[in-house]
Amino acid sequence: MLEELKKQACWANKQLPRAELVAWTSGNVSVRDPKTGLVVVKPSGVLFDDLRPADMVVMDLDGRQVEGALKPSVDAATALYILKHMPEINSVVHTHSRYATAFAALGKSIPVCLTEHGDAFGIQIPCGRYAKIGGIEVGREAVRVLRKIKLQCPGVLIRNHGVFTVGASALGALKAAVVIEDIARTVHLAMTLGKPIPIPPKEARRLWTVYHTKYGQKPGGGFK
Ligand SMILES: [Zn+2]
Repeated sequence: MLEELKKQACWANKQLPRAELVAWTSGNVSVRDPKTGLVVVKPSGVLFDDLRPADMVVMDLDGRQVEGALKPSVDAATALYILKHMPEINSVVHTHSRYATAFAALGKSIPVCLTEHGDAFGIQIPCGRYAKIGGIEVGREAVRVLRKIKLQCPGVLIRNHGVFTVGASALGALKAAVVIEDIARTVHLAMTLGKPIPIPPKEARRLWTVYHTKYGQKPGGGFK
């Protein structure tokens, strides 16, 4: 079942090592089928190079495995919680990408100091509280933060852990994961040289509005 979506989810997962967002088998992309509400998740502990569409696991929003011979990712409960509580999105990406996760280790949000950041999100990349992994706690904290900022930044750092991004499509959630890591890396470099200069909130908001209406072939800046 869901052959097309499995292909798409498999492809999306393989982008994580390509974009250097993950080490070994960590990290994953989950994608929901809007018609059935079923979610395709990565199998646990499988090397990205070995991953085939047929290996992908299909689950329902209550955590039941509907199809797939392999065990689902240990992060499946988190992704399912986020998808269940955010019907407007269809994909969740989770990574421990190095520079963004360094901010998470400090419990620090990433301030808007780059036009790239203003364009993409217009507000700081928020850092949520520490949450116990393996159950719904991480998902609950991610949803709490993403709701608070009304999803303007489609990604959140979870303290001491890593990055969760969301999108209406896997491509949108992937773009958010790549852009967050790129911003985190440049801000980190800037911090080693001195004190980065923040962009005033009004100007950051203006950059965001322009980018999300003018950039790309359709509105949304490629984050949908
Ligand atoms: Zn993790």
